[in-house]
This record gives sequence, C-alpha cells and structure tokens, in this order.
Amino acid sequence: MKIIMLGAPGAGKGTQAKMIAEKYSIPHVSTGDIFRANIKDQTELGMEAKKYMDQGLLVPDELTVKILLDRVAKDDCKNGYVLDGFPRTIPQAEVLDKAVSELNESIDFAINVDVKDENIVKRMSGRRACLKCGATYHIEHIPPKKEGICDKCGSELVLRDDDKPETVQKRLNVYHEQTQPLIDYYNKKGILREVDGSQDMKDVFSAIVAILGE
Ligand code: ADP
Ligand code: ADP
Ligand code: ZN
Repeated sequence: MKIIMLGAPGAGKGTQAKMIAEKYSIPHVSTGDIFRANIKDQTELGMEAKKYMDQGLLVPDELTVKILLDRVAKDDCKNGYVLDGFPRTIPQAEVLDKAVSELNESIDFAINVDVKDENIVKRMSGRRACLKCGATYHIEHIPPKKEGICDKCGSELVLRDDDKPETVQKRLNVYHEQTQPLIDYYNKKGILREVDGSQDMKDVFSAIVAILGE
C-alpha cells in the first residue's frame, strides 16, 4: 500500500503516519525527519536544507526529490510506504508519479488531514520533538510521560526552531501557495480522501482506517 499524507504543517500528518506505519507494517517516510537527521549530523545536505527550513521556506525540489527517490528505492519500501511531508509541490508530485508508474505501480491514497489555520498555530507552539527518534508530542494534548523526555528513547525533547510562531505563519503561507494545489491534483486522479484533523488523534486514526481498510 502506498499512501501520501497531505495537510498543513502541524495538521497531524506525522502523528497519523506513524500509526499507519505500525498498523499496516510499512515504513513511515518523512522528508522533514530525513532533513533534520542530516542537520543533526551536520552533513552537506543538512547544512543546505537548514538554510531554507529556518526561514520557513521549502527546500528546493531538486534536492528534495533526490532524497525521496533514494529512500523509496530501498528494500523496506518494496511493499509500500506512507509518505509524510512529500510531495509538497506539483513538480514533486509529478516526479513521484513518474517513478511509481515506471515500476508499473500506483499510489493508492492521498489522505488530506484538514485543520483550520487558527488551530494550527496553537498546535505548533505546543509541539515538542525528539530529534533522535522522530517521536512527536504536544505539551497539552499528547504529553510525554516525563516532561521534556522522549517516552520511546529517553532523549531530550525540543521546540523545533521552525515551530516558533513567526516562522509558523510563514510556513502556512507557503503551504497555501505551494502545497494546497496538490489537493486538487490528487482529487482529479480520484485518490484523494479527506479526514477531519481537528478531532482527537484516535478519532482521526479511526477515520483513516475506515478509508484504508482493516
Ligand atoms: P511539518 O511536520 O511541520 O509539516 P516537516 O517536518 O514535514 O514539517 O518539514 C519541515 C521543513 O522541512 C519544511 O518546512 C521544509 O523546509 C522542509 N521540507 C520537508 N519536506 C519537504 C518537501 N517535500 N519539499 C520541500 N521542503 C521540505
Ligand atoms: P505534522 O506532521 O502535520 O506537522 P504533527 O503530527 O507533528 O503534525 O502534529 C503537530 C502537533 O499537534 C504535535 O505537537 C502533535 O503532538 C499534535 N497533534 C497531532 N494530532 C493531534 C490531534 N488530533 N489533536 C491534538 N493535537 C494533535
Ligand atoms: Zn525519541
């Protein structure tokens, strides 16, 4: 099964993608996580991506597409994957379509996690991330067992540099301009499905399972 998660930054794509990955035994592929791992390791790619991420801008397609295609070509993606944060532009979607169709395969679903902008800003300021294992929490809605510490790996949780309110607003603008057109793109292909992302995380997941099947 090949799934794409669509939605604004902070809509809950990552939270749901991790649950989908576990239930359906497919890898969770997040371009944001790949970039952050590279920034942490201070690779050349990481340093280049950071310039854009810190400003709330998208990393250029050329760089992003290469990372994504390398990742989905790995063995563990043979039976499918859930993409979180990719594609974010029409050209990225076109490259993905081409790569998938060259294998005589297709994307099964593009799930749009819909949350209004005003709720997004609240969610982002409460988001805490583990840069070691990629787990995400929310100080009010989804708190870790021990404040500031990742339940899964024991590392310290951080407020991402790009989750500060001034950058969030910019990322939302970028989302509306460059990423939102993908909703129409996948709708035309007949694989778009919408879920109400403002519900409790478990209810959002139930809605997704109803789409994907048990
Ligand atoms: P969020 O979880 O808030 O949606 P991500 O972790 O997906 O954020 O992405 C963080 C940042 O990484 C983005 O703001 C952007 O700068 C960069 N990024 C991630 N995926 C892509 C992509 N597909 N194209 C361009 N930039 C990307
Ligand atoms: P995205 O990957 O779309 O940027 P995340 O999955 O990281 O979004 O979620 C953004 C923030 O909102 C995180 O702090 C997360 O814990 C929290 N969150 C995710 N889903 C919900 C939900 N259904 N209700 C409340 N908070 C949520
Ligand atoms: Zn962790």
